[in-house]
Amino acid sequence: MQFDHYIDNARVAPHTGARIDVVDPSTGEPFATIGRGDATDVQHAVSAAQRAMGDTLDGPWAKLSPVERGNLLFAYAAAVSRHADELAQLEARDTGKALNTARTDAAVLARYLQYYAGCVDKLHGDTLPYTAGFTVLTVREPIGVTGHIIPWNYPMQIYGRSVGASLAAGNACVVKPAEDASLSILRLAEIAAEVGFPAGTVNVVTGLGGEAGAALSAHPGIRHISFTGSTGTGALVGRAAAERHCPAVLELGGKSPQLLFDDADLDQALPVIVNAIVQNAGQTCSAGSRLLVQRAIYERVLDRLAQQFARLRSGPPSMNLEMGPLVNAKQHARVRAIVERVQADGIRVAARGTIAAGASGAGYYQEAVLFRDVPPDSELAQEEVFGPVLAAMPFDDEDAAVALANGTQYGLVAGVWTRDGARALRLARKLQAGQVFINNYGAGGGVELPFGGVKASGYGREKGFEALLGFTALKTIAIRHD
Ligand code: NDP
Repeated sequence: MQFDHYIDNARVAPHTGARIDVVDPSTGEPFATIGRGDATDVQHAVSAAQRAMGDTLDGPWAKLSPVERGNLLFAYAAAVSRHADELAQLEARDTGKALNTARTDAAVLARYLQYYAGCVDKLHGDTLPYTAGFTVLTVREPIGVTGHIIPWNYPMQIYGRSVGASLAAGNACVVKPAEDASLSILRLAEIAAEVGFPAGTVNVVTGLGGEAGAALSAHPGIRHISFTGSTGTGALVGRAAAERHCPAVLELGGKSPQLLFDDADLDQALPVIVNAIVQNAGQTCSAGSRLLVQRAIYERVLDRLAQQFARLRSGPPSMNLEMGPLVNAKQHARVRAIVERVQADGIRVAARGTIAAGASGAGYYQEAVLFRDVPPDSELAQEEVFGPVLAAMPFDDEDAAVALANGTQYGLVAGVWTRDGARALRLARKLQAGQVFINNYGAGGGVELPFGGVKASGYGREKGFEALLGFTALKTIAIRHD
């Protein structure tokens, strides 16, 4: 199978003819190729998007009324639902995620498109009080052509939350998916064309991050850039955007803590805590990767978690086990090396999951691991693993819990488990995070809920109405009439 870029509502081969192998993570075998795009392909895509916008918002996409734009997005959501199984199959083969997880991703994508479709005709400005003799109003206009650099962990969901919001605001999009997760995104651009989005509204250029991705983040025609990925690459993208005064949203992952107090409902908490780290094999920016447990219940909690971890299995997507393989050989080697280093440092394993008998030895499998008594300043407590590895540590009181929770460079999500309502609210205000969940934990969830980080987890917000506002340019019009 050979996949090309999708530009101007057509499949377009990379201009150099260069291609990249697409590898099945459950076997390590290549099964397709994608185009290795470069700055010239990106230029081609940006030009197509600029034509869809027109010089003065008079292009075939920009001149649609909000109702027409919303209707197209509703049709897109319905088409994604109809193609959900096909999209899930592509995604599972490409990224290794369990088929059921990929199906959920397709459903969430449809929900993003539906949510933003419903926002389009509610996106309005204000009239503002000002000096006598004036009427002042604000209007929200599209920004222009937006760039979207999408990682491999939740390609469909992240496409939905960033491209969906940008289209709802009336922008045209150029997307650079991860080289390890391009297939569903290419198909999504085709589906957009099939439901009637004008040529140039949604364009996809595949390739390597350092080539196509870097070209997109530096392109002067890109007026807004959304990036989800590592802190290091995020800094490069943010710098390239700043050089040309381009707004950026950076979502850079985390080391998100769950704080479990001795009055918590453990039956409710523990399954959620396990899921928050093993979901998508731990390859989730908002994974609950640190578990802080009040000392009085620490041993009891670890015993119960150990039993749950021992039952976790990794296997190919078609087996629909708790976890699939990791996405690629590099991530596999990286996670395994971290686990080995942590053990070599003397940190104890409390429990491990297993790799299913049916899984290929050449696949990129990593069993779930629960580490206990993890020192707060260790690599495991401080650095994102991006694998199914949970770091548990005890705390004595509320202040100590907050200090531990806030004691990393990150601040994406936090979870608090307690029956004490005042404590829950107190902690929600003290925790340095973009989202705080009380007595639940929504790793990646909540189409309607603004999402993003503080500190090294990035800036700007995705999801919800807040994200939509970020994809608009606010213009103030002051009219003197007396
Ligand atoms: P990267 O941050 O390098 O990749 C994320 C996206 O950025 C991909 O689409 C990638 O393309 C692209 N990219 C890479 N280099 C550049 C560049 N110079 N300019 C513009 N875009 C670029 O992450 P990795 O895939 O290397 O994963 C490494 C670690 O990053 C993970 O272990 C995890 O800790 C973190 N990560 C966090 C994610 C999150 O959800 N917050 C998602 C993915 C990773 P390509 O893949 O083609 O190189």
